[in-house]
Parts: sequence; structure tokens; C-alpha cells
Amino acid sequence: MTTTADENLNDWLRDAHAMEQQAEKMLSAQAERLEHYPDLRARIVQHIDETRWQQSVLDECLARRGISNSVIKDMGGKLMAMGQAVGGMTVSDEVVKGAMAGYVFENIEIATYTTLIAGAQAVGDSATQAACEQIIVQEKAMAAWLLEHLPQVTQAFLARAEQPGVTAKV
Ligand code: MG
Ligand code: FE
Repeated sequence: MTTTADENLNDWLRDAHAMEQQAEKMLSAQAERLEHYPDLRARIVQHIDETRWQQSVLDECLARRGISNSVIKDMGGKLMAMGQAVGGMTVSDEVVKGAMAGYVFENIEIATYTTLIAGAQAVGDSATQAACEQIIVQEKAMAAWLLEHLPQVTQAFLARAEQPGVTAKV
């Protein structure tokens, strides 16, 4: 049994859509909990807006390819572990682990869109290719921001953790 390149591309677009829904949940949970790291929170809030835009762009790609929203498959378990690792975190160094997990997640997104761009190119779907090329710019920018700011987040956390009566973890 064979699978056409177009069918594979459709699957990957559905997967990407599910991934972005997971991303929105994860980022929203982080933004909601963060209190003492305003720069990190502001960047996450910005990326929530970008993530919603990405969902709409993927919706358009799916619609253009004749894939209805109702058949978007549930990734369920696949990304659940990642979401839980970030969303439901109650560890004492939550902000540090959250920023680390965010960086990992952005890199999964970069890999996903790199694959989608190559797939779209392979089937000659230039509109999907262009859409994913726009999205991946945002993912790379978010990954770069998180990596660049991880030292500051870590230092701010360590300083707060040593002060009595001060919340450090979020
Ligand atoms: Mg995204
Ligand atoms: Fe992202």
C-alpha cells in the first residue's frame, strides 16, 4: 500500500494544526501563572497571538486543499506529555523549567514547518509553502528569544529564590 505525497502533506498539516492548539493551551497556562517575570510573560502573550494567527493560516491551507476542519485528527497522547510537562507544572523552579520546555517546543515547531515546507514544495503547493515559510519565521524568533533570555530568567529566579517571603517559581 502506498501513500501519496499529497496525503502525507494533508496529515502533516492536520498534525501541525493540532500542535498549534496544544501550543496555545501551553502558552496560555504559562502566561496565566507568571507573575514576577514580566518580560517573559509579555513575549509569551505576543506568541499566543502569533499562535492563533498560525492556526488560522493552517485552517486556510487545509480548506484550500479540500480538508475540512471536522476531520482534523486528534493528536491526543502524542503532544499531551509535552503539554503536561509545561502546563501542569508545580515544581519549585517552574519558570526555569517552563522556559526550557518552551524552547524545546518551539524547536519541535521549527522541525514541523521545515518538513511541511519541503512537503509542500514536493507537491507544488506554493501557497502552503509560502504560508509555512511565514509561520516558521515566528517560531524561529520565539526559539531565539527564549534561548537568549534563559540566562536572565535563571538569574532572576535564583535571586528571588534566596529572598525570604518572595515567590520565585512564577
Ligand atoms: Mg506555532
Ligand atoms: Fe511557536
